[in-house]
Amino acid sequence: EQEVMMYRTKRDISVEGHDVPRPIRWFPEAGFPAYCLDVIAKLGFVEPTPIQSQGWPMALKGRDLIGIAETGSGKTLAYLLPAIVHVSAQPKLEYGDGPIVLVLAPTRELAVQIQEESLKFGNQANVRSICVYGGAPKGPQIRDLKRGVEIVIATPGRLIDMLEGKHTNLKRVTYLVLDEADRMLDMGFEPQIRKIVSQIRLDRQTLYWSATWPREVETLARQFLRDAYKVVIGSQDL
Ligand code: ADP
Ligand code: MG
Repeated sequence: EQEVMMYRTKRDISVEGHDVPRPIRWFPEAGFPAYCLDVIAKLGFVEPTPIQSQGWPMALKGRDLIGIAETGSGKTLAYLLPAIVHVSAQPKLEYGDGPIVLVLAPTRELAVQIQEESLKFGNQANVRSICVYGGAPKGPQIRDLKRGVEIVIATPGRLIDMLEGKHTNLKRVTYLVLDEADRMLDMGFEPQIRKIVSQIRLDRQTLYWSATWPREVETLARQFLRDAYKVVIGSQDL
């Protein structure tokens, strides 16, 4: 226990919530499938970043989570690898099924970046992940959705278009990620987020990720969270 506290202090990790799992120190401890560890090794990663070290065991518990850490600290894989584990535990998908994992991101650029990270890992596991964003033709995105997917990475506006057009549905979503939650609110996406989240089952796992965490974000986030862990890397007064 003392050791865990020293480990957290050294990496500037603070945690909130009950029954917080201990941080993992090296990749194999997380319990990811072997092919994930292979990809990690190929990428040359030496050790988990602090947000991964504490965020992975939390996310893998299946509980809600708020993860706050500066840009460039590895938040994408902090939620994507547990997402792949989550998908692997679900029944095989059928043609036209909606996603199991939904990642909401504020911009097309970010959505594409997340997709690139996802493809590095998901491919080996037959976990299909697609990207749905505005400012691009809908046709290819509709075709991708119709084939059935496990992971959808979307900007809010285009996802709502797709839902209204009945090109996909959120009935199977049990793992919901809001990435760059602070920017999504700054950009005025709150009504869209509400609309999307209201279509997702309540027994989902919800994960918020952000570089900053202003009070307004906390207030909105808490409405969609139950019994959440919180992990903050670095100074609390963001
Ligand atoms: P954030 O979302 O926190 O801004 P990203 O998830 O975009 O950060 O990660 C930034 C970069 O760090 C990416 O290129 C990613 O592949 C890399 N990265 C992720 N995890 C690790 C790790 N454990 N060790 C080294 N690099 C990593
Ligand atoms: Mg990020």
